Amino acid sequence: MMNYEKARRTILEKVAPAGIERVLLLEAAGRVLAEDYSAPSDMPRWDNSAMDGFAVRSAGCAPGTVLKVTDYIPAGVSSGDAVVEGCAARIMTGAPIPPGADAVVPIEETEAGEQSVKLLLQVKKGDHIRFQGEDVGRGDLIMPKGTLIGPPQVSLLASFSAAVVPVYRRVRVAILSTGDELVEIGTEPKESQIVNSNALALACAIKLCGAEPVILGIARDNRESHLALLTEGLKADVLVTSAGVSAGDRDLVREILAELGVMEQFWKPGVKPGGPTAFALRGNTPVFSLPGNPVSTMITFDEFVRPALLRMMGHEKALRRTVRGYLKEGTRKKAGKLNFLRVQVTIEDGRYLASTAGDQNTGILKTMLRCNALALLPADRTEFAAGEEVELHLLDPTLEMED
Ligand code: AMP
Ligand code: MG
Repeated sequence: MMNYEKARRTILEKVAPAGIERVLLLEAAGRVLAEDYSAPSDMPRWDNSAMDGFAVRSAGCAPGTVLKVTDYIPAGVSSGDAVVEGCAARIMTGAPIPPGADAVVPIEETEAGEQSVKLLLQVKKGDHIRFQGEDVGRGDLIMPKGTLIGPPQVSLLASFSAAVVPVYRRVRVAILSTGDELVEIGTEPKESQIVNSNALALACAIKLCGAEPVILGIARDNRESHLALLTEGLKADVLVTSAGVSAGDRDLVREILAELGVMEQFWKPGVKPGGPTAFALRGNTPVFSLPGNPVSTMITFDEFVRPALLRMMGHEKALRRTVRGYLKEGTRKKAGKLNFLRVQVTIEDGRYLASTAGDQNTGILKTMLRCNALALLPADRTEFAAGEEVELHLLDPTLEMED
């Protein structure tokens, strides 16, 4: 049996970004920039007014000075006429500063008529001007490769008119459920049948990673069915299977994958739930074989598959946010495997406190509904007292904002 840390390291060492594509800016939302982006020009592109007011020459502007208004420059218009001494140009926010002017006097600091304007306060050179390049200078590396693209990145890229941007490709993830007991969603299961809920849960989790799920259906517990559908699944960027990965005589996934030339990297990563999880590769294609129990499927996806998908899509932060927290209640477990305790974390006095999210039996699905973090109970330990410090993987990214 492998250990958990080594299993996770193995996965992250073996996967690499899947490739780059150029997409329309909005398609890049939530994705990762695949090339350095340097500003193609200054921003602002020219000196412009930060206020509605009057563009003036500051030298001749004492309080009480009356200037003749000789020009009108609304936003979207550029005036070639110089502002000369004794004169001012009426100017609107965003409009280019006309030649000769070196300050803007806000309308609120004047008594303004149609033909003339009286200045009420002292004017300093540079007042209320947004200078060319003061935000971003031409050639500045403003977004290195690896930048996650959100609204501020989109705003800047759009302001430079970057309609198409290079991002890491989304990965296509094939999902194969296995088992004779399964029926597809929408079918009323007979006694002894269960609905193939894992396919949907996995597809949901894959979507939330920003990847593209491809549901292949159900492989029945025979060689032909497994061969056909696993072969199909290996055409995707990543293959995820559920069930059929333990040591039962109907558990065919590992055997048939091996037949298809898939090289197993580990089986049994020393965790509970998720004991029989396997990770394998065919060429660059990662294959994750997850246990069929829906709780185990979800937890092993989060711990092993999610980091791989995020890394393949260029994310530098591939792992869940990990914090130290404290158990609210004591608990015990068997020695030998790292246990994922499904917990509900709250933040009190700046500390993360973890209480059980419910019955920890892997048959109890509803505990997942209340679970916003996993507490990692180390393999070699058995007894945990209330108040003990543990490592937490936060499943809810908003948790940190509550303190
Ligand atoms: P197995 O790994 O084949 O021993 O399956 C473990 C448990 O998970 C069994 O109770 C299965 O019925 C259940 N299971 C297997 N596949 C699925 C699936 N696709 N959706 C929901 N439950 C499943
Ligand atoms: Mg089975």
